[in-house]
Parts: sequence; structure tokens; C-alpha cells
Amino acid sequence: MKKTRNTRQRGVILDILQESCSHPTAETVYREARRVLPNISLGTVYRNLNFLRDQGAVREIRPSDGGSSRFEGAHTPHAHFHCVHCNALLDIPLPGTLGNIRFEEEEGISAVSLIDLHVIGSCSGCEGGAAT
Ligand SMILES: [Zn+2]
Ligand SMILES: [Zn+2]
Repeated sequence: MKKTRNTRQRGVILDILQESCSHPTAETVYREARRVLPNISLGTVYRNLNFLRDQGAVREIRPSDGGSSRFEGAHTPHAHFHCVHCNALLDIPLPGTLGNIRFEEEEGISAVSLIDLHVIGSCSGCEGGAAT
């Protein structure tokens, strides 16, 4: 019984992440999940996010400014553009050569599971970061 409920919670959380392209925080996932599962707790959301991340189904993005972690459903490798003004997190393609580097040939590396590249700046909506 408990197992079934946990699986359902996990499925709802995964659906939210796969349908979102805004890289929600755990709190945002929690608010969305409550529409479907009114009794779900924030702790349960965190637990499931950690589980899904460890399974490789979800990717956790830790902003370099120390803000809240953002989450997304795992899909093809990509880099992130992070706007320092409005906190927008956009998917951008990995620079062409990066996907071709054979990191495994470097001393001390046996396998690469993720390339986590952050590009920091101002998004077009923030107009080059002109401070007001
Ligand atoms: Zn912005
Ligand atoms: Zn992304």
C-alpha cells in the first residue's frame, strides 16, 4: 500500500518536471504536486527529487550564486544560461566541441556521466543588465 502511494507521488513529480521547461525549484514542484496530491508534503517532494536524481531520471542544477537548486527531467545533454537579474534558467546547446572531447582519455577520469556547464549573464528580457 505504502509502496504504491510512493510510486504515484514519484510519478506525479516526474511528470511535473518533464512537462516544465522552467527548471522549477523544489518549492515550485511542491506547489504543482499539491494540485494533484493535496496531502503531499514538502519533505516528500524533496525525498522523491533526491531519489529521482540518484536514479538519473532528474537533474539537479545548483546555481553558482548559492540560490535554491533547480530541477528538470533528464533529457539530452545541454548547458544552462543563468540570468543574474531575474534568475531565469534557459537551456542552451553545449558548445560544439565540448560533446566531442574524450574526457575518458584524461588521466584520472574513467567515465563521464554529465557535463554541467553554466553560462552566467543577462537575458534578453533584462536588456544587458543595465542597472536601474
Ligand atoms: Zn533576466
Ligand atoms: Zn536544462
